[in-house]
Amino acid sequence: MKILSISAEVAPFAKTGGLADVCGALPKYLQKLGHDVRVVMPAYQKVEHEYHTTNKYGLSALPGQLWVPTGVGVSPAGGFRGTLPGSDVPIYFIAEWNLFGRPEIYGYSDDAYRFAFFCKAAVELLAALDWRPDVIHAHDWHAAPLITWLATAGTQDDRFRNIPTVFTIHNLAHQGRTHWKIFDYMGVQTYGLAEENYDEVNFMARGIHHATMINTVSPTYAREIMTPEYGAHLDKLLHSRAFDVHGILNGIDTDVWNPATDTYIAHKFDTNSLEAKIFNKRELQARAGLPQRDDVPLLALVSRLDFQKGLDLMGHPLHMLLNGFGGGEAQFIVLGTGADEYEQMFTRLAHYHKDKMRAYLTYDAMLSQLIYAGADMFLMPSRFEPCGLGQMIAMRYGTVPIVRMTGGLADTVYDGSTGFTFFDYTIDAFWNAMYRALQTYYHNRPHWQTIQKNAMNQDLSWETSAKRYAEIFAWAIARARGW
Ligand code: ADP
Repeated sequence: MKILSISAEVAPFAKTGGLADVCGALPKYLQKLGHDVRVVMPAYQKVEHEYHTTNKYGLSALPGQLWVPTGVGVSPAGGFRGTLPGSDVPIYFIAEWNLFGRPEIYGYSDDAYRFAFFCKAAVELLAALDWRPDVIHAHDWHAAPLITWLATAGTQDDRFRNIPTVFTIHNLAHQGRTHWKIFDYMGVQTYGLAEENYDEVNFMARGIHHATMINTVSPTYAREIMTPEYGAHLDKLLHSRAFDVHGILNGIDTDVWNPATDTYIAHKFDTNSLEAKIFNKRELQARAGLPQRDDVPLLALVSRLDFQKGLDLMGHPLHMLLNGFGGGEAQFIVLGTGADEYEQMFTRLAHYHKDKMRAYLTYDAMLSQLIYAGADMFLMPSRFEPCGLGQMIAMRYGTVPIVRMTGGLADTVYDGSTGFTFFDYTIDAFWNAMYRALQTYYHNRPHWQTIQKNAMNQDLSWETSAKRYAEIFAWAIARARGW
């Protein structure tokens, strides 16, 4: 199959979250299955800067210009070409300095226009490359304008008629709601959706409405988003397409996240040398200025400090934990940035429990690797979690996850076997799961080690997921061709 993957984020070129990891990894695994995959994303300031300075990714400028038709005339755009690092999957960058030459990926008042332009430029790029994909895989609302265009104005364009689309939802909370005028800009005439207010366009809703197939990043999240509780007002729309909604679990890059080869950690280990993990714990304790105690469980949180992550369940149980109510002593390390209220909560707790807790309120990829390797338990009490990478990485490093049973957490962590889980979004339920984990750690070390090994042995690779994606692509193609 010829597959185009279109996304606002692709690791390592631009990343704010799991979306980038998926879009940087999945195409490589699809290529290994024998497919012709190409990737397109915007050339943000950082990408252009790297091209003009170190050019460490070996990009080259595309010859000529793309002429992108918009409601305010035809606009020029440039492009770069490279490959996904560690592979020969082609990646194209749409360059338009006014729109993308900015320090951040999102957060501007004209975001809807930026990504609408990006999608229309991608169409012109395909024409310039003379490459017609068999299927287009669009990620999140930023790529949904392409789906909308293909399903409306694009049906009149011989070059692009009848290309099936698969829309993958990485986070339903961000929907790309904007003014109806965007359709004048895109040259689209269409009808409003029940999910859209008067004069409003909702690109997430449009993607769901127009795509040939819909997918999200875990089976449980796929079911959850069809309920009012998790549906972010799009549950009815999703439900109306229930037969086409799939949930494919993300994988993790098992070469990068591998305690046996990780170059960031001083003491490498695997399931046969699990005892070496303790050296990483001692290093982490030393770095965090905590007493180097082998027998004291070290709990950790590595996360965006966001409403989604269930942090308002944490303050009270952590205070109890560090005061010894879990049945013994304990230590805690947090690494994360985000909302003020959570940063303040952790600052205060760390101040109070100086010799037991350390708060790193920053983003630090290297430190995160040390924490995954050195901690005993990993907390993830998310309110909702489309897939979640943190718990998967933790498991790979034999760090036992304590998670809420939602979204991808419910699909990857098994209570008493690879981690500890709870269901109700309450402090009691969270404390209970943590307490059970602590009791096992304090009093039943053989069982604890079995859990660690089960977790490390779980298949979290992309190979399995890529095959499922290929299946859905094939179904979408069959649907479009009327097979
Ligand atoms: P989300 O995409 O919602 O942020 P995921 O669990 O899917 O959540 O992915 C988060 C990723 O970002 C994980 O790999 C985690 O280790 C990493 N991460 C989050 N916060 C930090 C931080 N402050 N420093 C380093 N890595 C972080």
